Amino acid sequence: MEVFPKARQFMLRVCTSTLPVRRMLHFRHMVDDDTCLWCNRVETVGHALFDYERVRDLWADSGCEATCRWEEAGSMCDLVESWGSLNAKLLQKGVLLAWGIWQERNQKIFEGKTTPNDELLNRVVRWTEGVGSYSRRIYTSAKRVPASGKSWKSPPEGIVKLNMDASLAKEGWVGLGVIARDAAGRVLYAATRRMRAHWPSEIAEAQVIDMALKIGKQRGLGDVLSNRIAKCL
Ligand SMILES: [Zn+2]
Repeated sequence: MEVFPKARQFMLRVCTSTLPVRRMLHFRHMVDDDTCLWCNRVETVGHALFDYERVRDLWADSGCEATCRWEEAGSMCDLVESWGSLNAKLLQKGVLLAWGIWQERNQKIFEGKTTPNDELLNRVVRWTEGVGSYSRRIYTSAKRVPASGKSWKSPPEGIVKLNMDASLAKEGWVGLGVIARDAAGRVLYAATRRMRAHWPSEIAEAQVIDMALKIGKQRGLGDVLSNRIAKCL
């Protein structure tokens, strides 16, 4: 989905039933009342996003009704899966509208403020335009600094390939990162760490090798790694 990372996190919570709707909070004994603020029905995820008068109007006016066939889908996860066949632009707008509806709900609960429907819909349209420039910025800047000119090649069978790097981009901070993959290109483990240190680059590079090997040993790959590391060093 081409949406903001926060909207993606929101969708993940929708799919994993971890969005803090009142039914969930009630189930966990965090609130006494599991009803919706607007209509006194139980506030499930489906209800909060799709199923009371105001949000039904929003979905109808947005032209994204194809994204909210939640009652046919069975679960929120099934609903999201069914979106795979939708037009990308329509899906993007639908996800951003669901996110906007959730923010609107929270704003009413926590700040007692509401936004008129037309304003909320305009906001969603602005977001869809914003996402385009956001991802252009992210992806074009990523292209400008390629990690290397080469493409990644998988190691021979039985060998674990560790790609790692240390970053000294910010004074007083060191970033370490490693990814271990096998001959099929499967990720065996990956890790990043950020620490306070004033190391020259040689030390930082050695530290990342050390970190990569320690994690590998914890994952039971000690033999594979120690046989090969002598060659590497
Ligand atoms: Zn309601």
